[in-house]
Amino acid sequence: MTRRLVIVSNRVPAVKERSAAAGGLAVAVRDATARRRKLWFGWSGRTTLRQTSRNVPSVTRVGWADLATIELSEEDYSGFYVGFSNSTLWPLLHYRSGLTEYRRRDLACYLAVNVAFAEALVPLLEPDDLVWVHDYHLIPFGAALRARGSPIRIGFFLHVPFPPPEIFAILPRWEELVRALDAYDVIGVQTPQDAAHLNQAMAAAAVAPRAEAIPVGIDPSSFAALARRAAQGRDPLRLAQSLGGRALVLGVDRLDYSKGLPQRFRGFASLLQRFPEHHAKVTMLQIAPVSRGEVAQYRALRRELDELVGRVNGEHAEFDWNPLRYLTRDVPRQTLAGFYRLARVGLVTPLRDGMNLVAKEYVAAQDPADPGVLVLSRFAGAAEDMAGAVLVNPVDPDETAEALHAALTMGIEERRSRWQQMMVAVERTSAAAWAESFLARLEGEAVPLARRRSFA
Ligand code: UDP
Repeated sequence: MTRRLVIVSNRVPAVKERSAAAGGLAVAVRDATARRRKLWFGWSGRTTLRQTSRNVPSVTRVGWADLATIELSEEDYSGFYVGFSNSTLWPLLHYRSGLTEYRRRDLACYLAVNVAFAEALVPLLEPDDLVWVHDYHLIPFGAALRARGSPIRIGFFLHVPFPPPEIFAILPRWEELVRALDAYDVIGVQTPQDAAHLNQAMAAAAVAPRAEAIPVGIDPSSFAALARRAAQGRDPLRLAQSLGGRALVLGVDRLDYSKGLPQRFRGFASLLQRFPEHHAKVTMLQIAPVSRGEVAQYRALRRELDELVGRVNGEHAEFDWNPLRYLTRDVPRQTLAGFYRLARVGLVTPLRDGMNLVAKEYVAAQDPADPGVLVLSRFAGAAEDMAGAVLVNPVDPDETAEALHAALTMGIEERRSRWQQMMVAVERTSAAAWAESFLARLEGEAVPLARRRSFA
């Protein structure tokens, strides 16, 4: 019998949660581990007045898993989640040292919450479980579990990038976090570059390097089927009608500074300015659900975008054509699938991104007979094997404009051959392939202690 899988992540998907709120992680994990018995453990998304360590997890059985959630104290929400996870680690791991804030109190909270979570999980564990810990909120979780005497197999997957060690070393006490990774039997990251960086950091912290690139993906055939159906749905049909035959350029991202949205809007403005043949012939739709509104930098970004959208439209619109449509609410994944299929261009230009599932979803959603073109940042993990995309450096709006022009004027033969190349990559790096390779490693023989400790 297959062993039970215990997934540990900061947020546990609520029974009916919309995927945007949970991000790419919930979508990928759920798609990939459908056949296993699962316990999913993490934060409920709610806060209480009690200390985190006094909260007992509540377990709900849903069709596809048991969900065990625990509440955070108000103080830990601010120190662990808003503070150390999202104001310190997130910018730093996305190479944004200038945005990185640091407070000793937040690090203390981060370490304490990881211990409290480990203590809450221990009573729920069975001896044969495989524990799979996800993402930057929980780097020291494995070490905290081991400290409570847990001899089981524990793996860690980092969904975000890992920067060059010189950047990570800006973090005070960085070695402690990297050393904590020694508790994991398996460590997966998105790309060979992330693996190289993390392994350098591990070696520098005197820990045996063991990070491997295991790229996360989607379920391409079910997403393609979803897109085929969704294209005939009410909202995609309404969108198609509203375009009046104009080409659609589509962006879909959480409203996050790592996604390069101001640069992208400037790139679109540059297209309209430098290639006037597209004037009134193309409409851009940017879907950007607000995220992490409690972090000041996200609120500032929102203000910047509000102003930019107004400026771009003010300068280029006609009385019967608005070039840039901008939505800050989330759109159900099913509707998105239909929108992707309509879009002549998928515009995915993060300044840095672990993988970017939107890029893969856009490819899977295309009509093979008449596919659109993906314009993709070289700094997204997805660029690793998307040779068929038009790759750009998103920092340069004029380069984005040139890529958009190339995409909008590309002939059918080239579009088909580029799409086929990309689809092969999306199929090879599917969510199922990702979970299978990670779990095969996790199920493998226990790594001998001698190897784990050889650098200690
Ligand atoms: N998404 C969605 N509705 C939205 C925006 C995004 O369902 O309005 C989904 C999208 O389809 C994708 C995920 O959210 O599956 C975003 O994953 P990605 O890896 O691109 O970015 P992340 O948010 O994890 O940084």
